[in-house]
Parts: sequence; structure tokens; C-alpha cells
Amino acid sequence: MSWSSQLPPDLVEKIERVDDKIIPMRREMEEVALANQSKVLTAFRHNHLSESHFAMSTGYGYDDLGRDALEAIYADVFRTADAIVRPQLISGTHAIATALFGVLRPGDDLLYITGTPYDTLLEVLGVTGDGIGSFKEYNIGYDQVALQANGQVDFAGIQEKVTEKTKVIAIQRSRGYDQRPSFTVAKIDEMVRFIRRHYPEMIIFTDNCYGEFAETREPTEVGVDLMAGSLIKNPGGGICKTGGYIVGREDLIKRCAVRLTTPGVGKEAGAMINSTHEMIQGFFLAPHAVSQAIQGAIFTAALLAEFEIESTPKWDEPRTDLIQMVALKEQEVMVKFCQAIQRYSPVDAHVSPIPAYMPGYEDDVIMAAGTFIQGASLELTADGPLRSPYILYVQGGLTYEHVKLAVSYAVNDVFFI
Ligand SMILES: *Cc1c(COP(=O)(O)O)cnc(C)c1O
Repeated sequence: MSWSSQLPPDLVEKIERVDDKIIPMRREMEEVALANQSKVLTAFRHNHLSESHFAMSTGYGYDDLGRDALEAIYADVFRTADAIVRPQLISGTHAIATALFGVLRPGDDLLYITGTPYDTLLEVLGVTGDGIGSFKEYNIGYDQVALQANGQVDFAGIQEKVTEKTKVIAIQRSRGYDQRPSFTVAKIDEMVRFIRRHYPEMIIFTDNCYGEFAETREPTEVGVDLMAGSLIKNPGGGICKTGGYIVGREDLIKRCAVRLTTPGVGKEAGAMINSTHEMIQGFFLAPHAVSQAIQGAIFTAALLAEFEIESTPKWDEPRTDLIQMVALKEQEVMVKFCQAIQRYSPVDAHVSPIPAYMPGYEDDVIMAAGTFIQGASLELTADGPLRSPYILYVQGGLTYEHVKLAVSYAVNDVFFI
């Protein structure tokens, strides 16, 4: 029996057409994966990674050679002087907050130039929430430069908002839950050049969540000073059970390390328990897994286009992250599509997601997440806050085949049943 034997012939015909159409785009992503795999492999070889590095450390975790090797590999791949890669960084938000609190001091200002930051960061900044422990409470100022109507950075607006107190300019690469386009590394390059020309001393930070290995270059390769992300997203390769990373300039990483642990300890301690092996192996697998997920996103966008569903990026547009935004327009369709993705997941396929409150998010969120690791968004998930125009973010997929199966059957549920 064929995998598609339960699908109507109309749909199968469309899937076949889409398969042919997206071959050139998929081939491009295979090239990206090859370039990134080469980068990662080179870093492993240069750092003499060996089996002894997989040993687990306990207690204080002093002299953990595996952790040192892992961090040296990250620094090499991201072309930075230093890196922190730890299970004690519990999420992307935590890695980003650690980086920002690490380098900012009371009286300093932070300026985001890519519009409103990702939802979970608003509480860190003190824009939402009760403010306890936030930037606001520490008297660290925050402002943002809104994007222009066309979704691009407002360079004149940056000049209006930078003051002598502005110490860090932050760039968010991925759209997150926003409707703006994501910023390619070429666009980030433009931003960095502009900032360097006008404010040579500025610390440039990038939230790289969802972006790693989507292109052949990373933001730190075009001059970003400090960057953070999550290991349950791209760089964990789908197998990391927890963790985050911060990479960047040596002096800045030192500040982040003492923020994460304590002054005097910095990067020198922190037991890895059992995480080193999966963090190292996950990083090795990440270029391929990211490429598979993006090829899945290309399929999703192309198939939905056959049903006049608007996606961004469109199937043939350049990509810099995992995210596929699908504008389903009606709450009911959004919920149904999401539930179908859950039904074609490897874990918890028998349960059905419903919209609910999530800490850190302003609106109720629906989330299909039949994943091996809770919240892992390199695995196939579909989620979004329930607000008009009911945009579902369909991202990830450890294998292209899984995305193809799940999305094909979700389309069947929504349009044929
Ligand atoms: C996911 C994400 C975050 C937050 O990461 P968590 O691991 O969910 O805390 C921050 N910024 C962007 C752009 C993201 O995609």
C-alpha cells in the first residue's frame, strides 16, 4: 500500500506537481547543508574531538574537557573568540537574557532595531509582566525602532533613537511570531556596517533563534559581537534535551559567563551531567536536520499555494530560518490544521491540542507538538497565538519525509474532509 493511498487522487496529483516544482529549491538547501556540514566537521577535526570528551562531569564540573571542546567547536563554527554552551542555559530566552544582562549595566540603554522583540523577551525587558527582575527594575533603558511599512529596518530611525546611553543594539534574525520578514545574513551585514560606521563602539547583539545553519554564513561572520540561541532549536540537531548557547567576543563572553554562574567562577565550572555527548552529536547532525526542516517548509508553502493559502516565505523565496507562516484566516481552520499535524506526529498522536494560555505570551496559543523533546522546534510543530488573521507557524521536521506526510494529511483534513 502506498503512503498516499488514503489521499484523494486530486490531492495526490497536486502533491506530485509540487514535488517536481520544488526540486531546484530543495537542491539549494542541500548545498547549504553541505557547506555547513563541512564547517562543522572541520571544527570537530581541528579541536581533536575524541571519545573521552563524552565523559560526564558532576558536582562543580571543574576541568570538564568535553565542555571545553564543545565550546571551542561552537566558537569555531560561529567564527567567534569564545562560546558558552550549557545545559544551565535553560532556553533561548534565558540565553538571550543572560547575554543582555551580562553586558548591560544600570544606566545603559538597549535598542532593538528590528521592531518588537519575540514575545517572551518583553517580560525580560519589563515591557510586559510585573517587572520583577526585569531591565526596568535594574534601570536599564529599553527602546525599539519600528520596522518600515515594507518590513525593512529604518536606518534614519536608528539615528533618531541612539543616545550616548545606548550600549547595545539588538537584531532579531527570525520573524518569531511577527508578520515581518526574517532578516537574511546579507541584511544583517548591512545593519552591522551602518552601525559600525556611525557608532564604532556599539555592542551589536543578535538573537539567532531559528536561524542557525539556514544559510552558509552566520551573523557573527558579518561582525555581530554577541549572539545567542537555543539548543532545542536548530543547533541541537533535534537530539539535545535542553540547553542554550552564547557566542561572541572574548570580553563579552566573560561578562555573560559571570552572569550565568558567579564572578570568580565564570566558564570554569558547571557540571554537564549527561549532556555533552548529545550536544556534540546534535551539533554534528544540525546542518542536515535544519536543511531537512527547511525543505519541508518549502513543500508546505508550495502545497498550500495550490489551495490559495498564503504563506511566507513563499516556496521559492530565499530563507534564513525555519519558520513557515501560514495565514489560515479563520480560527477554526487554524485549529483544525494544527490538530491534524498533531495527529501525524510520532509522539502523542492520539491527543488533540486546544488553545490555551502560555506563560510569556500575550494571547492564547495553540500548539501541535508531538515531539520527542518538549517544546523542541527543530521537530515538526505547528503553533501560533490566536489572534487575527490566525497565522499558524509551521516549523521544523527532523526528516523531510515526516513533514511531507504530516502536511499532506493535514491538507487532506482541512480541504477534503
Ligand atoms: C524561540 C525564540 C526565542 C525564545 O526561545 P525559547 O527557547 O522559546 O525561550 C527568542 N527569539 C526568537 C526569534 C525565537 O524564535
